[in-house]
Amino acid sequence: MEEKGGLYIHFPFCKRKCPYCHFYSIAGERKMFRKWLEGIVEEMKLHSEIKLKFDTIFIGGGSPSLLYPEDIHKIFESAKKYFDLDVIEFSMEVNPDIRDREIIKGWREAGVGRMSIGIQSFDKNILEKIGREYTPTKAIDFFFLCREEGFENINVDLIIGFPGERKDNPKKIIENIKIMEPDHVSIYILENYEGLPFEELAKEIGIPDDDFISQEYYELKEGLQSLSFIHYEISNFAKEGKKCLHNLKYWNYNPFLGLGPSACSNLIGKRWCNVPDVEEWFKGVKEGEIKKEEIVELNKFDMAKEAIILGLRLVDGIKISEFKRRFDFDIVKEFSENINRLKEENLIILEEDRMAIREDKLLLSNEVLVNFL
Ligand code: SF4
Repeated sequence: MEEKGGLYIHFPFCKRKCPYCHFYSIAGERKMFRKWLEGIVEEMKLHSEIKLKFDTIFIGGGSPSLLYPEDIHKIFESAKKYFDLDVIEFSMEVNPDIRDREIIKGWREAGVGRMSIGIQSFDKNILEKIGREYTPTKAIDFFFLCREEGFENINVDLIIGFPGERKDNPKKIIENIKIMEPDHVSIYILENYEGLPFEELAKEIGIPDDDFISQEYYELKEGLQSLSFIHYEISNFAKEGKKCLHNLKYWNYNPFLGLGPSACSNLIGKRWCNVPDVEEWFKGVKEGEIKKEEIVELNKFDMAKEAIILGLRLVDGIKISEFKRRFDFDIVKEFSENINRLKEENLIILEEDRMAIREDKLLLSNEVLVNFL
């Protein structure tokens, strides 16, 4: 069967930089967005010879909700012009601080079918501390506005582990999820803020410890499962038929192409990231060159190792026979010593044709994954 790819488009602008954010994003305004869009079209042109059919599109950021419907229309039309598309999922990340119904409707009319709303927290005090311009109530109103405008596939992004988080945080989240009924929920744990302005605040108030976070995570897992969400990846939960097909491409080691500054690509055998600098990236694409860094050529063994590390993020883990067929690599034989030890330590399960991290050990995934490097 022909392997289809995912198209990722990175919009690097936000209204302002959040103190805990480690993504490549900068404060920007409309004039810069127009230039970025021109660059994206140029980059599409430069990749137009690619021999890959794309069936998912994901516009992430940054804050892509700063884009107007006509921008999304231009992106989609250009992608149709330069690539072979057969789109079954078109996602966009949005911040819940837009009040304009016409814009939400316009995004859907321009082709977006799946919204990923970055609510982050339902705690008003925490939202204030992290500089968000909305309250939990406004975020919930935004969610229903999206529903009213016809979005039938909505993800809610949440983060746990903020300083000052209360013990009843998971309970509050589950109560709100019950009211909203999204199709998908992502629960991330706050990390990588060292060296960012947020570190000061974290030191002042105190980051919850690992036990607190672990308790929150498993309480949320249980709560979401009781609401019929399927836990399918360490941080991701979906209603039946609503798993994120684009993100599944990363974990299943399928090819994807990233456009825009800092966007990464993996064309199976070769992967790279674009430079995380909008000016340098733009200058490059205008001159006919995509400025890249971290270009890595991979042999079969490297690919298999990367595919194990990504595949073990999935709750169902890796199907051993399929993996062997795809990568010509026998995981159990190649890593027998480490696998036996991980089994003895009760970190993984190895069934007849499946290897997975034990569900009650998912938060220890890093300890497991280092054994396959
Ligand atoms: S809105 Fe998102 S991408 Fe932008 S600075 Fe804040 S956390 Fe980072």
